[in-house]
Amino acid sequence: MRIAKILLSIPLVLNICALAQRISGQTPASSKRIVMAASTVLDGKGRVLHNTRIVIEGSKIVAIDSKAGPVDYDLRGLSVLPGWIDAHVHVTWSFGKDGKNAGPGVTTQEAAYESASNAWATLMAGFTTVQSVGSPLDVPLRDAIGKGLLPGPRILTAVAPLTGRGPQTGTPDEIRAFVRKQKEAGADLIKIFAAQSIRQGGAMTLSQDQLNAACDEAKKQGLRTIVHAYKDAVRAATLAGCTQIEHGTMATDDDLKLMAAKGTYLDPQAGLVIENYLLNKEKYLGTPGYTAEGFAAMAKILPLNHDLVQRASKIPGLKIVFGTDAVAGAHGRNAEEFIDRVRDGGVDPMAAMVSANLLGAEALAMANQIGSIASGLQADIIALDGDPLKDITAVRRVVFVMKGGVVYKNVPRADLHH
Ligand SMILES: [Zn+2]
Repeated sequence: MRIAKILLSIPLVLNICALAQRISGQTPASSKRIVMAASTVLDGKGRVLHNTRIVIEGSKIVAIDSKAGPVDYDLRGLSVLPGWIDAHVHVTWSFGKDGKNAGPGVTTQEAAYESASNAWATLMAGFTTVQSVGSPLDVPLRDAIGKGLLPGPRILTAVAPLTGRGPQTGTPDEIRAFVRKQKEAGADLIKIFAAQSIRQGGAMTLSQDQLNAACDEAKKQGLRTIVHAYKDAVRAATLAGCTQIEHGTMATDDDLKLMAAKGTYLDPQAGLVIENYLLNKEKYLGTPGYTAEGFAAMAKILPLNHDLVQRASKIPGLKIVFGTDAVAGAHGRNAEEFIDRVRDGGVDPMAAMVSANLLGAEALAMANQIGSIASGLQADIIALDGDPLKDITAVRRVVFVMKGGVVYKNVPRADLHH
């Protein structure tokens, strides 16, 4: 009990109740009944509930009942919503000891702690589920968080990505074998690079046959596919039956309409990823993939991305999810992308919220577990100090985070200033 004593003597921002739950949260959430009072609930599906109470038992929401009590957490005056889902992060990417971008493959102890820190920062920012796409190092972090050994969002990982290199990528059969290999390594989904970096022009790097093989084999293995694609690669990946397109810069309206018709998800980035590169330019410049020419190109790409989000949000039936492509420097700032989408992409604030809730959950094939505030779903619940529908910058003020029934953040109300 010495640890408990020490912890209790530290003036933490968490209240005692939250702290006790954090400790017990090392094992599956206790089955104690928790009642949360809320004056405004965005349910994740586009509806707003007023003056109600959310009842939680163990890791799940068991009722939405305005008469439930006694109240354990009074979140009235805040905006309560389901924990956000970021469909595209690189949780292991950090800056190294020299301050420079260390990329995805560093296996030092420092890099491991940085990864754990990235996961913590992401959770504190209100993201309770993330899809990390493209590093085998995601696997031990995913598993440690899943066992309750470390605090962090639920992580889904692609393990190693299929990187298009033209014919060198392999025959369709070799590509199918690669997909099966990732599944054996524990992949939750398959990440495919079907185009160059947009900084290098964004040309296609996989043929239609190669893409068809990758997405078809993944489907046979019960895995989703998310495809890094620009320009022509957007249409090719859509025709190949892949699940989701990442980036999508310079897709035409016809490409976007085809995606809507085929039910392909789009995950565009309205700002954060490029803003983060520009903000941390000195830390990226000269590291693999980041040249002075590439940085010059980024300034031109940003308006193209705004244009894509503006056009995409007007295509009827197109399912747009929320993904930031968070790399070193962006972990914990994921919500900035909401602001970019609303301010620069013309996205309706409610649509921006739903993109990271119900739609995000549907894209992960997890809508029966996360993405909404409803009975039977995981108790992934966050609260914002402010109303994101009136002022989207409220997404920066996450004051309460519960994941799977465990409270990880609960800023005392006296600290909230309106
Ligand atoms: Zn990425």
